[in-house]
Amino acid sequence: MSLNLKQNVKCPKCGQMSEVTVWNSITVSDSVDLKQDLLSGKINMFRCPSCYYSALMPTPMLYHDENKKLMISFSPCNDEVLKHQLFDNVQKSSKESGELEKLEGYNLRFVADYNELLEKILIFDNGMNDKTIEVLKLMILSQDIEKAERRTCRFGKIENNVLEFMIYDTIENQTYTSQVPKETYDTIDLQLKQSGVKPYSFGWEMVDPSYATRLLNGFNN
Ligand SMILES: [Zn+2]
Repeated sequence: MSLNLKQNVKCPKCGQMSEVTVWNSITVSDSVDLKQDLLSGKINMFRCPSCYYSALMPTPMLYHDENKKLMISFSPCNDEVLKHQLFDNVQKSSKESGELEKLEGYNLRFVADYNELLEKILIFDNGMNDKTIEVLKLMILSQDIEKAERRTCRFGKIENNVLEFMIYDTIENQTYTSQVPKETYDTIDLQLKQSGVKPYSFGWEMVDPSYATRLLNGFNN
């Protein structure tokens, strides 16, 4: 069920009050338009009608795609320590509420970054799994190991059986693209499954570069 509420927000830049529709929950089957708005970065985005200042609202949101058995819990947060606390809270409250029993076979993800949320939606929309993508991203970044620390890598698109990744270098302030054949994705995906990695969740998971590092070090799930 998609849920929203109206909030009166004071512009942090010019002080003008305006009403913003804030979404707490988005269920894809309710509205295609709503998902399009999310993918184009319009959901929970404050835009001042007076000075046009814009910023993401600090509201947690749950994204639910019943057909793909995908649920993403999004808590906007820039702080690493706070992020882990929020993740712990999500894990704890879902155990207490017993909701996990109803979500068998689901992929359950926790993210704190809007771009990461959009990236995960895109990955699952293309019939892939983010666990395999995160391992692939580590492999791409390790091709230039000295620069890996300062670079971020995001899945961009898949076209003609070629995956395209965007690599952003924070020091050079440059974006590069890297292309990987779909066969490479399929090979890694198969290897991960054979090593025991499940393409679904037993609880909420944070699938990020440190998750992929743990997988490559021999842990599964
Ligand atoms: Zn303003």
